[in-house]
Amino acid sequence: MNIPFSKASTVGNEIAYMQEAIESGQISGDGRFTKRCNAELEKLIGCQKALLTTSCTHALELSAILLNIQPGDEVILPSFTFVSTINAFILRGAVPIICDIRSDTLNIDETQIESLITPRTRVIIPVHYAGVGCEMDRIMAIAQEYNLAVVEDNAHGLFGKYKGKNLGTFGIMGVQSFHGTKNLTCGEGGALLINDSQLNERAEIIREKGTNRSKFFRGEVDKYTWVDVGSSYLPSDILASFLLAQLEMWQKIQAKRKHIWDTYNKNLKKWAEKNCVKQQFVPTYCDQAYHEYYLIMPSLEQRQNFIENLKSHGVHAVFHYIPLHLSKMGRRYGSKPGDLPITEDLSERLVRLPMFYDLSDDMLDYVIDCVKKSTK
Ligand SMILES: *Cc1c(COP(=O)(O)O)cnc(C)c1O
Repeated sequence: MNIPFSKASTVGNEIAYMQEAIESGQISGDGRFTKRCNAELEKLIGCQKALLTTSCTHALELSAILLNIQPGDEVILPSFTFVSTINAFILRGAVPIICDIRSDTLNIDETQIESLITPRTRVIIPVHYAGVGCEMDRIMAIAQEYNLAVVEDNAHGLFGKYKGKNLGTFGIMGVQSFHGTKNLTCGEGGALLINDSQLNERAEIIREKGTNRSKFFRGEVDKYTWVDVGSSYLPSDILASFLLAQLEMWQKIQAKRKHIWDTYNKNLKKWAEKNCVKQQFVPTYCDQAYHEYYLIMPSLEQRQNFIENLKSHGVHAVFHYIPLHLSKMGRRYGSKPGDLPITEDLSERLVRLPMFYDLSDDMLDYVIDCVKKSTK
């Protein structure tokens, strides 16, 4: 068997909706399907406003422009994340201030945030790794005390909850990804979730090339014009139509991912204990988003052997992330190995198993068998 790490699939009306969008003749941004996606996201997540974007990266860029980030402003974030989390802010001239992670959830260590705050700090970006909520009670309290904005990178955490509240609704903004590797997808896409209505109007303008075209389409102004800085962050309505079909099936998609996660977790428990492998940890007060299933191997060498062995059986497991502060670009900001011991240790030992909607029970059993055979 050959089992990829990830694979996108259609689960409902994707093809029919794409055809409908194309036949309508209206395939540019903010068409019927985009509006339905925005409304669906607002309803499902409970955010005040959701705006579809061309990617999560672009939603992050939009958030940085909305917050008026200036050169020299400092942004606190975990080093254990995808590059877009910080690139969006670096494009505005911001300086990354990297924080270590908790060894249990791999989320930003909230107890270290305060020591990183300076008069230049503007934003904290918690990344809900694997769709398990960061310690938002503490993070929001710190943000309030120091008057900092919180932008939640919720690329992994759609439908996840922290103490009963949806991820993405804690900070002033949250961002989602609909990239091909995420739980719900349209290939490339994202969304900006806005939790403060004062940002709504300017968000629409920046997303529409700095024009008030959204107001014009609603009949609120009689012509549209250039009113602010901006860019082009609207996805085509063809992509929105694909995404809408996925949003309609969200419960089915999430149920399948939960089934895969639970099966891995249950069937690998004994094996993990015997081989000193750590299974993923989810606090009782977090409803996780079932974005991925990861294991922490005893050492880097054992992880590399494990990945190689699985590959020889046709199973593609992958690691995550090269910490930002150890990358070529990250080092330009003055960081060096040894700065973040927990991040450096765990990122070397983490491995993710195949997880996607079309992973059948037969395939799942096969992966589990191969895992058990791959630790010698
Ligand atoms: C996938 C991902 C992104 C970027 O998403 P795109 O939609 O590909 O731009 C950002 N942050 C995290 C944590 C991600 O996993």
